[in-house]
Parts: sequence; C-alpha cells; structure tokens
Amino acid sequence: MRWSEKDLFEVELLEPLPDEPIARRPRLPGEVTPLPGEALASWLLRYAEPFGIAPEDLLLRTSEAELAGHGDWSRRPHPALIERLAQATGVDPMSIADMTLWSCDEASDDMRDRFSCLRFQAARHVNRQQRRMAVCPLCLAEDETPYVRRDWTLGWATICPDHATVLTGDCPECGCKLRLPALSSRDYFAPDRCPRCAFRLGTASPRAAHAAVIEMHRQFGQARSSGAFALPGQGPIPWPVAMALFDVLLGAVWIDTRPVMRRRLFARIEGDFGRGALGNDLTGSYEGLMILAWILDGWPDRVRTAIAIVQGPRPRRQLERWCDLDDGIRQTLLDLLLAIWPDQQHPDDRAWWRAWIENLPETGEQLRARAAIDRFPHRRARLLALADVRDGMPVELAAEAAGVMPRTLYIWLKRGAKGDLESALDRQRGALNQAQAIEIAQWIADAPTNQPRWRSNRVKNEVLRRYGLEISLDVASRLLRKHGPWVRRRISAPQRRATYAPVAE
Ligand SMILES: [Zn+2]
Ligand SMILES: [Zn+2]
Repeated sequence: MRWSEKDLFEVELLEPLPDEPIARRPRLPGEVTPLPGEALASWLLRYAEPFGIAPEDLLLRTSEAELAGHGDWSRRPHPALIERLAQATGVDPMSIADMTLWSCDEASDDMRDRFSCLRFQAARHVNRQQRRMAVCPLCLAEDETPYVRRDWTLGWATICPDHATVLTGDCPECGCKLRLPALSSRDYFAPDRCPRCAFRLGTASPRAAHAAVIEMHRQFGQARSSGAFALPGQGPIPWPVAMALFDVLLGAVWIDTRPVMRRRLFARIEGDFGRGALGNDLTGSYEGLMILAWILDGWPDRVRTAIAIVQGPRPRRQLERWCDLDDGIRQTLLDLLLAIWPDQQHPDDRAWWRAWIENLPETGEQLRARAAIDRFPHRRARLLALADVRDGMPVELAAEAAGVMPRTLYIWLKRGAKGDLESALDRQRGALNQAQAIEIAQWIADAPTNQPRWRSNRVKNEVLRRYGLEISLDVASRLLRKHGPWVRRRISAPQRRATYAPVAE
C-alpha cells in the first residue's frame, strides 16, 4: 500500500520507556549559561523563556515529572533529573548540582524567615511559602541579566555579603511578597521586577547590615556547607544540632515572654551593638539573626543573661516546646544547655494548690453546669478551665483548651487554693478598695483641663502617697481613661499581621 506524509494516521501515544538510553535524547538548541551563584530555578526559567514553554514541560518527560514530584523540585533535584537536565542543555552536571541546595536537610534550609518572630509565635507555621525569596537590590541593579542567586533562596538568608545589606523579601512599593515563579509557569521571567506592581527592585535602597550579623551569616554559611558549627568556647557541633539550638534560643526569647521583658533584652543588645541596630520592627529574620549573634558572641554568659532578662523557663521546659525534635539532637542539646544553664529546682511544696482542686466539693460536671448558666464570659472561661483540671487534665492542656497561657491558669488555681472558688473566678480588683477607688476617681475627675493630660505615673504616685499602695501603670492608665476630664483617646484594634495569611500558591 502506498502512503503519503499527508495521510492521517490513527496513532496511540506511548510513554517513553524508562530505560531509554540517555545518549539518544536530543539536545535543546538553547544557549543560556548559568550565572555565578545562580539558583537552579532561576536558570531554568531563563533557559525556557525563548521557547515560550514552561521549564517543566520543556525539560522533563512524563516519567521524570513524576520523579520530580510536586512543587519545588529545583532545590534538591533527584540525581537522575540532574543527569537529564545536563543532557538536554549541554551543561556540566556538576555545575547544575552547584545551583541546588544539595546537601543538608530541608527543615533547616527551606523555611522562609527561619529566624523571624512569627515562626515562634504563630500557632502553626504556614509552610506553603517554599518559593518565597528575598533579593539584594544592589546585586540586581548591577546585573546585566538579572537573576536569582541560590543563596537568596535559603530560608535563613537575610543579608547580601557582597553589599553588606539586608535582603528585601517584599516589594518596597506595594508590599507584595517576592517569590520565584513555579517551574510550570510560562510567564515572562523578570526577577528584578515586583510581580504585582512591576516596581524595579534594583532602585530600592536596602538597609545596611550590621557587622556582627554579617559575620554570623558567614559562619552559618560555612557551617551549612561543612556540616559543623563552631560554637564559641565549645567546639564544633553538627549543623542540624546547631539549627535546633538556634530555635531553642530564639524560642526562649519569643515564646510566652512578656513584651516589657523582651524590650529590656533588646535595649541591652542595642547597648552592645549600637543604638538603633535592631530597628523598629524586631520581628524579622534579620533581627532574629542579630539576637543570635549577640547571644553567641558571649556564649555561654549571654545565654544566661538573656534568659534571666526575659525570665524564660529552664532548659528542660524550653526543649519540651520543640516536640518533633529528633531524640539524639534533643539529648545533645539538653547536655549542652544543662552544662551552662542550671535546670529548675522545684520546691517540695510545688503543686500545693493541687489538694484544693482535687478535693473541691464540686465535680467537673457540676463546674461545667455552673459555667453554662453564668452571666460573665470571664467566669465561664475560668469555670471550664478549672473543671478540666478537676477532671485530671494537665494544667498546660487545660490552659490551651481555654485559650490562656499556663501561667494564667496557675494564678487562678493558686488564688482559689488560697481563698475559695469565688476568688478564683473573679477578676482581681487591684489593690484599691472601693472607698479609695472612688476618692481617686474623684481626684482624677477634678483635674484641670487647661493643663496637659496627666500621665499614668502621676496617678500611680498619688496612690502610693495617699494609701501607701502600689498599683500598676496599667491600672493607673485605665483609671485616667475612665475618669479623666480629657477627650477620650481612641484605642485602635490590634493590627493583624499581614504575614499570617496563607497566600494561595
Ligand atoms: Zn548584593
Ligand atoms: Zn510591588
């Protein structure tokens, strides 16, 4: 039978055989060489651009796409994928491997803003931000062809060592979080532009990084590649252990500590590193790195100082906060920390309030029944939490269920054990009795309005002078707000952090 090329055939597409010899595969006609320190994703996106196809479609076959798995394969590609990319592009496999975060574990490298406060205070880390990156505007401004450096995609990377500047993680113009495009994206690749407002990132003026942070960053980079971090005065410790240690140290600063104590610590750090070193917003990863730099600079004394200033719990409690730590790492850390930071000594009468709650005439059921009919939300919450403890639930869990800090529930329990159930349920009224409170309220109400608004300190001192009692500044400012003859100040609602919102990929 004769046939021509114009005839239509019924064909069936077959998957290529997995053992297809690599040498038979065609080389793509592209000519894009990797730039110094470039990230693999950045290079692939530049490579695929002239073809108008997404890098994944251009470079991977179906079987390989399965090998690549979903999402972000370009950080740690399978060796077979590197072979395939080398074959298709004609670039040496070693240079391709150099563009990836080859060694080391994902947990310590991939999390964006690894050292930021949010990581320690958000209930659940939003780990959908794998492609998030931070860029150095000065590097981009100098680039002939703008590209993304591999080191910018490290989750804990916060500075550019070449320019001694803090990396920019969001657009200075519109606040859009910067991210690498997906490898399935066909969009025009322009790493020097904000993806939302097209702001030219190279024209941004970044913040100068502190010398101590630059040095810390350098040591981290070295430790990451060599696998061991040299703890001052302690010798080398494995990199994963070091990362877990940094978490514990920053956790000690951020988790369940009072803001006023933290401010004291930050003032101390600025005292050593120079005024304004930490800046106004202390919650970033750069500031986290600076806190670490300060602590590690004076290891082990500064660990003790920092914990004492923020009044954090002892090592064993600190480590309990990190429940998915590997057992070996946990033990190493505990040994390391217990040697420099003595563990809690509990007094013999530690849980003295327990007898009270356990022998309470009301059962848990009865407490809950009371909660159901109580008028006041704060009393309902307390009754429910106490009912849980009455039923034998650990205080930490009961506190979590009630949405309060364990410390608060302990205070309720102790107040109940000292007095009775009612004193555990009612809000503490402060040191003033009713007659005194009325007198002070009257005194505040009579304040002259043609003079500047009184400060809380004035009320506090007056109470001390009149009755020899000490009230907190909070109570004093509340009295002022309630009874003062001045125009009421607006108290704005707490601001929501933009970073909490998970961004759809
Ligand atoms: Zn730079
Ligand atoms: Zn923008």
